[in-house]
Amino acid sequence: MTYSYTQISQYLRCPRLYRYRYLDGWQEKDTRASMAFGRCFEKALAAYFHRQDCGVALYKEWATYKDTALEYSKGDSWDRLLQQGVHLLHLFAQQDRVRVPQPSRDLQLKITRELSNDSEFVAFVDAIGEIDGKRFLIDWKTTTSRYVEEPEGLWALDPQLICYSWMSGIRDVAMVVFVRKRLPEIQYLKTSITEEQQNEYGHLVEATINQIESELFPSHSGIRFPMNGCTSCAHLGLCLKNQQLVDQTLMRRPGASDLDWLDQLAD
Ligand code: SF4
Repeated sequence: MTYSYTQISQYLRCPRLYRYRYLDGWQEKDTRASMAFGRCFEKALAAYFHRQDCGVALYKEWATYKDTALEYSKGDSWDRLLQQGVHLLHLFAQQDRVRVPQPSRDLQLKITRELSNDSEFVAFVDAIGEIDGKRFLIDWKTTTSRYVEEPEGLWALDPQLICYSWMSGIRDVAMVVFVRKRLPEIQYLKTSITEEQQNEYGHLVEATINQIESELFPSHSGIRFPMNGCTSCAHLGLCLKNQQLVDQTLMRRPGASDLDWLDQLAD
């Protein structure tokens, strides 16, 4: 089996959700405009580092969705997202804080790692480059609101950054966050992961895979007001046996488990 960060985090969120998604093939319908736009924006960033016209690259990628029925959040539209994206690309070039000297080698890197139980773990790292002259493993994010920056050191607890650090052996990691708001902003969230955190994550992965392979998939419903993970879970219809809800949010992808690690590309 091949595992990824997404799979491990989905299992830790709710083992039942993992079973629905990865074993039974119930996948969320991917119609969110923000997700599609995020993927287009990352391709535009790749063009930027290859010294191509990143604005044109963004337009070309995003144009493929122009006539697609996507769900836009309040106030968003195809044109508005394009404008925000172009504005952010300009700002990124102007600030000029990130360098990827060897883009062919250091963008969208696939890293694999053998695990002890004949499985492997795969990660796709967005970039390895420099921020303000120092080497970092970098993850790009696009969002509509700023990421929280306080208290200091918070980002050293981010499981995705810890996972990538464990996979790559690189301790200095960062998220570059492109905030799509009226006045666009870019956050450079830099942190350092300790060797102890890397080892702990490795143990967590092994323990989680043992549970998956023992076919332990209890639900973590934990219905409590007001924070309740089930209300934002795309698989709620399956747990409630509500076919209308299933049809609204999910589609069945039989035999999907062999390609599960590809889901990570969407994160
Ligand atoms: S609705 Fe709740 S219990 Fe059911 S899969 Fe989703 S998170 Fe788990």
